[in-house]
Amino acid sequence: MNPIEQILNEFPVLIVDGAMATELENYGCNLNDSLWSAKILMENPELIKKVHVDYFQAGADCAITASYQATIEGYQERGLTESQAIALITKSVELATQARDEFWGAAADRSDRPKPLVAASVGPYGAFLSDGSEYRGGYAIGEEQLAAFHRERIRVLVEAGADILACETLPCLAEAKAIVSVLEEFPQVSAWFTFSAKDEFHISDGERIADCAKWLEQKSQVAAIGINCTAPQFIGSLIQEVKSASSKPVIVYPNSGATYDPVSKTWSEEPSAGAFSANSKAWHEAGADIIGGCCSTTPADIAAIASWARQGKPSEV
Ligand SMILES: [Zn+2]
Repeated sequence: MNPIEQILNEFPVLIVDGAMATELENYGCNLNDSLWSAKILMENPELIKKVHVDYFQAGADCAITASYQATIEGYQERGLTESQAIALITKSVELATQARDEFWGAAADRSDRPKPLVAASVGPYGAFLSDGSEYRGGYAIGEEQLAAFHRERIRVLVEAGADILACETLPCLAEAKAIVSVLEEFPQVSAWFTFSAKDEFHISDGERIADCAKWLEQKSQVAAIGINCTAPQFIGSLIQEVKSASSKPVIVYPNSGATYDPVSKTWSEEPSAGAFSANSKAWHEAGADIIGGCCSTTPADIAAIASWARQGKPSEV
């Protein structure tokens, strides 16, 4: 049984954490850099650990490591050696694991939550390019080169001891296929796959998410399928599309931002207090099993999920 299944056997919802970058900025970091939060792995690793602890305290059952934009090539372009880059990618997993172990060791109440997981972020090729193509697709390279791009970092993340891989913000099915082909070289490892989407039915490069889910459904190492880094108003429909093609757990961690006003029946771009709580509950009712937040979500948003997802006892098993 993979770590996600184990938790979902006991709890109706697995709560993923929120944005790393937003919290680092709240702590005063300047992330205006092509390495983004991966820069902070070099400069202030303790702060990354602190953000992980903040999210565990808010109720997250799963930390996503700061390796999204941490790649060997990216660090090498910054003048680091290959072994220095590998050490930093390893460190992203170590920081989350230390935060989890320290938090869990001191947790006042463990009765209504599982021991949190560490999910190693496998950011898309577009995040390394730092040109926005993770929201467009249209990569200039094919599946085989994408697999070559992902292989070494995945090996490092697995060897660092992550519980699961978070293959996230994928703009196209070809990148998911490339990562699955690499995963097959590590048969004991499971991973979730989340795409960036452009509307209610399609991932960023225009493919139907249902077709992506149908392909991933057959792969035993795929622990969950869904969407991240996408506007919240598309999520309800996207959940239904994934469910129409797959029986695997559905994962969503959208961006904060737009909120639905049921009176005017319009979406506002201004986040409102309580909106993430209401939205996330609706996503669960629509069929999402694993829920968290992506860009500009904060520990308050994760606490808002916990406020409805963790009321008293775990579900009956
Ligand atoms: Zn995001």
